Amino acid sequence: MSFERARHEERRTARSTLLADGTLACPACDAPVAPLQRAMSPAEPLGCGYCLHAGMVRDFLSLAAPTRATHVVVRVR
Ligand SMILES: [Zn+2]
Repeated sequence: MSFERARHEERRTARSTLLADGTLACPACDAPVAPLQRAMSPAEPLGCGYCLHAGMVRDFLSLAAPTRATHVVVRVR
């Protein structure tokens, strides 16, 4: 009896679609919160440097127009 390991390689092309423009601001005090220098996920922890409110990125994201100084681009990957 022989056993052969199945080989499977899956390659995906990373694509993203622009969903919206938004602002990153503290939901408690409305202070702008600087986005990180990389993509952030909605469930990632984030904190306010002014009032120390802690939450998740999605709590700090506002899609209301117009966007303010801490402008972010929301993409779906
Ligand atoms: Zn705050």
